[in-house]
Amino acid sequence: MPQARPSAVEPAERHQPHEAVSCALKRLYRAIAGQAPLGETLGEIARLACPRPESRVAVVFGLKGEDLEVLASSRRLPPWLEPPARIPAAAAPWWRLRERAAEIREGAGWAPYRGLVEGGQWCWNARLQTVAGEIVGCLTLFSRDSLAAGHGVAEMEELKELAALAIEQANLLEELRFRAEHDLVTGLWNRQRFEDELQRLRAQGGATPAALVLLSLDGARRVREILGEETGDLLLRQAAERLRGLREVKFAARLSGDEVAILPEAGGGGGQEMGARLLEALNAPFRLDGHEIHAQAAVGVAAPEPEESLTEWLRRARAAAAAARARRNGSRCVIFDPTVALQAPERLELERRLRGAAGRGELLLHYQPQVRVGDGQVAGYEALMRWASPGVGMVSPGAFIPLAEETGLVVEMGRWALGEACRQARQWEREGLPARIGVNVSALQLADAGFVEDVKRALAASGLTPKLLELEITESAVMENRELAAERMKAVRELGVEFALDDFGTGSSSLAYLKDLPVDRLKVDRSFLSELERGEAPLLESIIRMAHQLGLPVIVEGVERREEWERLKELGADEVQGYLTGRPMPAGEAEARARAAGRAGQSDI
Ligand code: C2E
Ligand code: CA
Ligand code: CA
Repeated sequence: MPQARPSAVEPAERHQPHEAVSCALKRLYRAIAGQAPLGETLGEIARLACPRPESRVAVVFGLKGEDLEVLASSRRLPPWLEPPARIPAAAAPWWRLRERAAEIREGAGWAPYRGLVEGGQWCWNARLQTVAGEIVGCLTLFSRDSLAAGHGVAEMEELKELAALAIEQANLLEELRFRAEHDLVTGLWNRQRFEDELQRLRAQGGATPAALVLLSLDGARRVREILGEETGDLLLRQAAERLRGLREVKFAARLSGDEVAILPEAGGGGGQEMGARLLEALNAPFRLDGHEIHAQAAVGVAAPEPEESLTEWLRRARAAAAAARARRNGSRCVIFDPTVALQAPERLELERRLRGAAGRGELLLHYQPQVRVGDGQVAGYEALMRWASPGVGMVSPGAFIPLAEETGLVVEMGRWALGEACRQARQWEREGLPARIGVNVSALQLADAGFVEDVKRALAASGLTPKLLELEITESAVMENRELAAERMKAVRELGVEFALDDFGTGSSSLAYLKDLPVDRLKVDRSFLSELERGEAPLLESIIRMAHQLGLPVIVEGVERREEWERLKELGADEVQGYLTGRPMPAGEAEARARAAGRAGQSDI
């Protein structure tokens, strides 16, 4: 329920809503929590605001930038005002009313609205404000009488709160959806959207793009290493801008760091021409912070082959791009042919060494503390995999997990991680140290027929209390196959094991499906922390509040600075995990720290 807010109305006028109305209100709360379509919910609210529909019409507007957008009304509006009509807020006379009624007989701007109700002479308006104080729209009544009759003010207060809540939630979902489909640095589509798009084209049949073009920008990596992350991002943004300007580019998505996938416009010529155009556009130097920088673009092209999987297609384009990158002179555009595959030895070599790494004892786990915001105590750890590769040293998962996923090796490696994490956690449990352990589970593992057995076995072999095991699953892993995922998760949950939804906000991000999944905790992706730099944090705030409404505690990842911690505390986050409270560390170190904290009887931070 929304918090009470000071009302613009005299207290004496307030009274409790009628029984019938309060029933309707309850239904509306449920509709909002269940994410019923916004138009329907607001329409219902508008109708409730008009107990005598012949003499009143209620309209709900959403604030979109400088405009008011018609979202719903208690009854049909004239065509020029039907949703989603927009009116500049400055030209809407009621917007200035804030929270009061006005006669609309005369006065500038009212004329078109007077006819909304026959004999309409009054307008009452209330701005819709979220709990955090953000104005998201207004609820406006046009009426024949002066509003003294009909609903009392208590109902209007409640309807107003409800409308604000519904709009806030819809805005949040929209924003999350945008984030789910876009790369936030460049504004290009993201990997997930790219895959969806290809699947969609395939499903339509026939319309498969003529080529998959993979663009790699070596310069961006180098810039990032030398001039810093921000300048690297700047280069990517400018490069993306140039891509957007190319007619030949139909669809461009940033797949990972310096890699952009492109689908050419139909009839845009062959792959070679496309590659030449891209290189031409990107070869001109970029100006960044007073430096002149070359993007060092390389392009790989692969034409589709019948029956080939998306992964396979991408793999061929990537191999071609790697061959192009390796060229010292000549064109940095390579079209895939079978000989190209032989020119990508690095990957093959990595794959060869990764195979059997678990069996050879080259894998280990580091543990990163998860700390309660309330008292600074360690609540648990996330187990993060490391690969001690002979002759190479410690390899971080960013470098090998994607390959392990592509090759399916991740199933075997994940099984090992599960067993090892449970063994370690059981030892801590026995010694009375914090022992809740988060273990990452990839989509492939979840889909593996032996997954539930693997979890059972890890629990039985270690003797760990099941509740202490928390499996981390990303939204995208769940979305790959929702039904199967839900089924597997439920089976595992019956063992007493818990689930955390990892990287929340980077995947499909629908709070709606959370209701149907056995999830016990939300892990908010660190990308949301950038909001805090700008002062306001509407997304973080909404996510935390909505998660709490669903009864889920929230852990925020990647917290590096004290100020972030302080703000998150204010925002009501439950736990944090990040460099501020501890990097991922070997088990021995985690244990020593836990003992020291225990002895001192004080918190970690
Ligand atoms: P993740 O699950 O999102 O794990 C958190 C990552 O953020 C870790 O990177 C961690 O070291 C890093 N991190 C933690 N605090 C901070 C911070 O304050 N600032 C910054 N910049 N980074 C922070 P790591 O260990 O490199 O792991 C990367 C990813 O590899 C993980 O992301 C996870 O998706 C995957 N991964 C790791 N271990 C496993 C595993 O055993 N199985 C599977 N399937 N995936 C794993
Ligand atoms: Ca994780
Ligand atoms: Ca994460």
